[in-house]
Amino acid sequence: MIEKACLILSFALFVSVYSAFAMQDEGASSVINFLPEGPLENESYQRCPICLNSIVPGEDYIAAGKDVFNCSVDHVCHVECLRAWLEGPAVKEHIGTCPLCKKISINERLLVMQAVDDGDLRKVWSFIERGGNVDERDDVERTLLMRAVCAEKFNIVKCMCDCNAQVDAPDKRGATPLMLGVHQRHYDIINYLLVCSADVNARDFRGHSVLMYSPIGDVTMIDFLLAQGANINMCDNTGATLLMLAAKQGERRVVRFLLSRKADVRAHDVRGWTAVDYARCNRHEKIARRLAALFYKIKD
Ligand SMILES: [Zn+2]
Ligand SMILES: [Zn+2]
Repeated sequence: MIEKACLILSFALFVSVYSAFAMQDEGASSVINFLPEGPLENESYQRCPICLNSIVPGEDYIAAGKDVFNCSVDHVCHVECLRAWLEGPAVKEHIGTCPLCKKISINERLLVMQAVDDGDLRKVWSFIERGGNVDERDDVERTLLMRAVCAEKFNIVKCMCDCNAQVDAPDKRGATPLMLGVHQRHYDIINYLLVCSADVNARDFRGHSVLMYSPIGDVTMIDFLLAQGANINMCDNTGATLLMLAAKQGERRVVRFLLSRKADVRAHDVRGWTAVDYARCNRHEKIARRLAALFYKIKD
């Protein structure tokens, strides 16, 4: 049983590696000699989804759903059928997807993610041309666009946007590509995302705004985002505004700048705390005094 599992696994690896080579060298070819013993145990596995014939005892089969495509449901098919499916002449026109769920193979996904990270436009374009999903996600739910932003590959960002990828598709924390671009100070990328209608007032699952993704103390970025229409008083899920966060961190320059832009000194979070409380609690006395003076002046 363990032996069989090992064989299946090593075949899956072989298919992955082989198709990687096949993409580069169409002339390559190999014969797989894999002969599992005995009949399949599960009745539902007995029909091959590619040729639609029954898998009879003695025939080569593989748990393709699990090992090749990472499907939620497994599909067992003939080894020969799967190889023809992945490597056949059709591969030039369509991406190697699961014959049932249409999910792309683990191998294809790895290849396109790597191409994005490398800024390899030719490979990314080939993926899209063969019907690959422009909003394909990696294992941590980042889209191709988001990966391109993280890798600072402007050419790929432009390609994905021009191919109508979802510009604000969030990752598993709810962060958008624009937020990641802002955090990493990629101005050319940020500009292009904004031109493509990225939401400058998007919030992640904790309520953090694009503005809050500015690197700590980066007044230039905050100024830039405000000019793009970012809301200075937007708060996170705890009710904290950028002014409160800057006060908490003792960022005097940022506090001064936000005040010059008329940030709301009287805003309070869900506990009723204002920016003054944030500064005071974190022993930033100078900031607390400045905020308090403004707070009471405004209150009167
Ligand atoms: Zn078959
Ligand atoms: Zn599937």
